Formats: sequence, C-alpha cells, structure tokens
Amino acid sequence: MKLPKGNLNQKSFQQRRSLERAGVDPKCIKEQIRVLGLDVVPTWWHESDTILKRCEEGLAILNRLAFCPVGREVRRALYRSRVMPLVTWGAWLRPLPARVVKQVSQLYRSLSRGHPMGSKPLRTILEGHHADSSFLSLHQSVQAAQRAHKFRRLRWRNSPSPAGWQHALVRGLSEYGWTPQRNWILQHPQEGQCNILHDGAAVLHKVRESWRCSLFAEFLSQKRRDSNLLRQQVGYDHMSCKVARCLYESSGNHGRAVLVGAALSSAVYCRIRKEPVPFHCSWCNQQEAADWDHLVWHCPAFAGSRPASMPQSSMASRMAWPPRSYSKRSAEKLLHHMAAVREQVMERLS
Ligand SMILES: [Zn+2]
Repeated sequence: MKLPKGNLNQKSFQQRRSLERAGVDPKCIKEQIRVLGLDVVPTWWHESDTILKRCEEGLAILNRLAFCPVGREVRRALYRSRVMPLVTWGAWLRPLPARVVKQVSQLYRSLSRGHPMGSKPLRTILEGHHADSSFLSLHQSVQAAQRAHKFRRLRWRNSPSPAGWQHALVRGLSEYGWTPQRNWILQHPQEGQCNILHDGAAVLHKVRESWRCSLFAEFLSQKRRDSNLLRQQVGYDHMSCKVARCLYESSGNHGRAVLVGAALSSAVYCRIRKEPVPFHCSWCNQQEAADWDHLVWHCPAFAGSRPASMPQSSMASRMAWPPRSYSKRSAEKLLHHMAAVREQVMERLS
C-alpha cells in the first residue's frame, strides 16, 4: 500500500496500538494526513491543520487589505478573488471554525465599509453568497459532492459516517431549513424537494435561495425598529430580493444604507443622542415628528425627488426593496429618493 508522505492516519487509540504491534514506526502514525491538499482527520469535529493554515493566511491578507490605500470596490474584488478561495477551499466535510467565520465577517465589514447600523443578515444577502465564508464552504461542499458522485456513486446510508459526505451535507443544509427524506433527496419549506447530487446547477440555485430565505427570516426576527414593523407584514420574495441585490451593486453609500436598514430619521438620531424627540419637523416646520415615514413620504422638504405614489409594500416604502410590479426605472427612482433623504439627514448631523 502506498502511503502519502510515509505517514499513516490513526482513527482511534485501538488502531494506533494495532499499527504499533504490526511493526509500524510510531513516528509515522499521525492524527491527520494530507492527501491532494485535503487533510484526512479522524472525526468531523477535529480541526484540520491545512484548513487552519489557509484561514490564517486569508486573515493575514484581510488585515493587510484593511490598510491598503485602494477603494471599496477593489477591496471587495480582492476579498472575493484572493481571500475567500483561500479560506473556503477544502472545507467540505466539516464546517469552518466559528471563530474564523466571525473574524472574516468582521474584517470584511470593516474593509467594505458595511453600515454598522444596518441589519447584518440583510447586508449578508446583498453582499452575495461569495462574501459569506460559512455558506460558501457549504456551497462548494455540495459542488464537490456532485463531482465525487459522478466519479464514484455515493451511497446513502441509514447510519452515515460522521466524517463523510452525507453527514456533512445534511448537517450543513439543515441550517437553512432542509430536511432529509431518502436517498439524497432533501425537502425545504419554500424550495420543495430536490436530489442534491443529481440536479446540478438547479440544486445550487435552490440552496442559495434557501440561504437568502433563512437570512431574511433572521432579519425579521431581529430586535430592530424596522424588523418589528415589518415582521407581520412581509415575507421573503425572491424577485424583490433579486432587484434589491442589483440595486445594491450599482448604488452609492447612501443607497446601500437604505437597502440594509441603516438609513435613520432625524427623530431616531435624537433618540440615539438621548435628546427629547420634538413633535416638530425642522425640515418643513410642521407639527409632525421627523420620523422616517414623514421625511420620505410626507415632508414637503423632500418633495423634489419623491416618486408620484407611495408603494403598497412596506419593504419598499421603508427600505426600497422594490415590489414585483415595479419596473427597473421605478425601483431606481424609489431608491434614489430615499438615498437623497438619508444624505441630507446625514449632512445636517455633521
Ligand atoms: Zn417635515
């Protein structure tokens, strides 16, 4: 038997004893070995040395990027092309360590100028799945399993190995609402049933949708002013989300702030500064609280950019996630208006 780098992988103390009795040099018996860039480890909860090293390198690049004198778009592009492939490649049979996911997320938010007052799950949706290290490693895991299945059929087992594909995929996908049915067929409340090994690109699309759906539900459950307002009124709409993602990519700082829920009214800034909120709008001098609804939809001071009618959807009227009935032009006009309100509110604060 040909042994990679002359080392043997021990799975248990008993195996180690057996190998020693068989005359194998104890120095050659390792807890984990590396084969074609992947670490073979005894159990799924063992951290892989190679993946940890890749994560360290990725975090070092992120730290250097934070001080790089380049714009936001260049930083985002470097993050996606240099850091994410390094951190996520090979993390297929076990999740990335939670502390690495947290560090990567925090550093990325800082270098991409993510709005701290915005909703983290909404920002994660809009930044895209390529920016979420935890989900991207699962996405790559599904792709790798589909490739492996084409090469050699993967069997579905009633008692799967904790270090195998079945355990990794079922465990990872269950975080996004998928439940196993039979023979690699999983069920999702919104996406329905699919065979995760056979359906190729279609299944990857469904997995990404389930990730967005799950993040949107997380946003609605947050203890935030906008989440509390919208919880009973809206649900995840993939068409609205698709247009919102396009708008996020093409809009400036204030537009992005509106889409992630970081656009605040003059009244809220009074509360943040622990000042009494006057029942008087300083923008139009009317006896109205200068809350977001008033500024965006009723205040005469912002009438110039305001669309002719207020959208029925609360997600649209508050955060500019456009309803299905909106054309691209109407969606852009709505976001442009709300971004203009946010810009003027911020200018007055500074
Ligand atoms: Zn007003």
